[in-house]
Amino acid sequence: MLSLNKIFSKLRNKKTKKNGTSQQREPLIISRPDHTISRSQISSAALKVLYGLKEAGYDAYLVGGCVRDLLLGHEPKDFDVTTNASPEQVNQVFKRSRLIGRRFKLVHVRYGREVIEVATFRAPPEAEQHVDEQGRIVRDNVYGTLEQDAWRRDFTINALYYNIRDFSIVDYTGGIADLEAGKISLIGDAETRYREDPVRILRAIRFVGKLGLTLDDETEKWIPKLAVLLKDIPSARLFDESLKLYLSGNAAVTNELLTHYGVFEQLFPQTAALLHEEHDGYPRILLTKALENTDKRIDEGKPVTPAFLFAAILWEPVRQRWQDYMANNIPTIPALQRAASEVIAEQVQRVAIPKRYTLITRDIWVLQTRLPQRLGKRAFRTLAQPKFRAGYDFLILRNEAGEDLDELVDWWTLFQEQTEAEQQKMINALPTSAGGVKKRPRRRRRRKPAAKSD
Ligand code: ATP
Ligand code: MG
Repeated sequence: MLSLNKIFSKLRNKKTKKNGTSQQREPLIISRPDHTISRSQISSAALKVLYGLKEAGYDAYLVGGCVRDLLLGHEPKDFDVTTNASPEQVNQVFKRSRLIGRRFKLVHVRYGREVIEVATFRAPPEAEQHVDEQGRIVRDNVYGTLEQDAWRRDFTINALYYNIRDFSIVDYTGGIADLEAGKISLIGDAETRYREDPVRILRAIRFVGKLGLTLDDETEKWIPKLAVLLKDIPSARLFDESLKLYLSGNAAVTNELLTHYGVFEQLFPQTAALLHEEHDGYPRILLTKALENTDKRIDEGKPVTPAFLFAAILWEPVRQRWQDYMANNIPTIPALQRAASEVIAEQVQRVAIPKRYTLITRDIWVLQTRLPQRLGKRAFRTLAQPKFRAGYDFLILRNEAGEDLDELVDWWTLFQEQTEAEQQKMINALPTSAGGVKKRPRRRRRRKPAAKSD
């Protein structure tokens, strides 16, 4: 926040043009001495790209989240560059660059492990030709000016530009004033902008969770009304956005916001239906705890697997189906397998969780059926499963959320630390109830009668 305070105190003493509502106004330009973004905070790869474009005679700016985050005193996740050079021209300037995208071309410039995305100024979609009946953008591949590029962005705080020519910040849409007020505002008419691209609903919520700013009234008002439009967004894009929502380090808060605004039910309808019924019960506690653990791990720099996250989000629908199938005499493991398959199949229609994750999610759930069964060689076999650790963590999560699993958690916690001889003793000391699934009597296969030859 320090950097912002400095800007604002300077701005207050300075005569600046007041921001109006018309798009033809002059931008607010904050010169280098009046803001605190310094080149030392910008990655060397981004600087090389900015200078490379400048030296080739083009305009070049940092834009978007990186400018916003630097002004808020956060470390940017990545640096995006925008320019008046066409993608082909950018491609010619940098040896290690390649054109990507079909509809709207971008250039990726690589320096070591860092990739800088360079986009050419883009114009806003023109009414009618470029939006469908719902108001959704279907064409936005028209190059434009810096000013047009600013107005087509989503939120004012995301439309600030850092100019490499004089190190000033350029603000067409009132982003600086909104940062000062701690507000997230859509640029232009909120309803229209959400209809153009309903994913902006998810982005608005993500930025509240991540930046701790508040939504301006209009930006907030339309979220519950238009959340249903997320139904028409391709499930692959919703998967990408879900990861950003839940792996930003603020998943617990973000999830509460999603629920509050009626957006969670658009992403995870099966879970939402069950969480509605039980307000402070086990399913919600389990989900909250899982998200808090995820946030803590991210904060500590530990890895998190999306598979575990989805295992937690989808556990309640799976658990209930599993119980139902067992009540209908389907044995434990097949009952769980079936519940898992059905819940995943329905979920991926909305949020396309890739198979590489759902396979692990499933393993985590299946381990829940194996962990209680410890007699004979079973405990050793379970311990040797590749996803044992995630399954064990999930068991702890269920216990913390209120399931009566103390004995099982303690047993496995100890078992992992013992020598093999001690482990065998632990198994021998178990009651027969810790056995396992009741085996279905194996039916003898009848030999096929030999085919008659006649
Ligand atoms: P993050 O810190 O998560 O990267 P970001 O704002 O940089 O946040 P990006 O997805 O990297 O988000 O997008 C970069 C910029 O592109 C945004 O700041 C915004 O200006 C613009 N943008 C992204 N998505 C949209 C959208 N759906 N509609 C309009 N502008 C968008
Ligand atoms: Mg970004």
